[in-house]
Amino acid sequence: PPDVEVLGRATWTFLHTTAAYYPEKPTPTQRAHMLGLLHALPALYACSSCAEDFGERVRAHPPDVSGRGALSRWLCERHNEVNEKLGKKTFDCATEKLDERWKDGPAD
Ligand code: FAD
Repeated sequence: PPDVEVLGRATWTFLHTTAAYYPEKPTPTQRAHMLGLLHALPALYACSSCAEDFGERVRAHPPDVSGRGALSRWLCERHNEVNEKLGKKTFDCATEKLDERWKDGPAD
């Protein structure tokens, strides 16, 4: 079985970074690709219990792919649900905090 922690960190890094660089005004094609990516996870993610759990979350809260701000927040909220389930600290989903972590780095 996969190392669920290593896989999780790598996957969140990929997803949050992809959301951080997603366009402010995505084209219909870009929106469709993002929806495809998010809907593929529950079908393909190598931790099957994580995949099942995430699929339920995506059903309960359909992804907002309208632009990078909304998408980044949506993803942050889903990640926080997993954090809470695992007893981890939650993350502040304000755009500035998300950009600092996943796009711009800390201000100097
Ligand atoms: P991670 O949770 O991997 O976070 C990595 C970094 O992201 C953190 O260091 C922090 O800087 C940043 N971060 C934290 N929270 C947020 C947020 N809300 N928004 C933006 N950035 C944030 N593990 C299980 O045991 N059971 C599961 O059911 C499960 N489901 C998962 C479902 C998915 C879709 C994914 C991608 C992972 C899942 N995992 C699950 C793995 C789990 O979420 C963690 O990745 C793993 O436990 C390693 O945790 P970590 O403490 O290193 O930080």
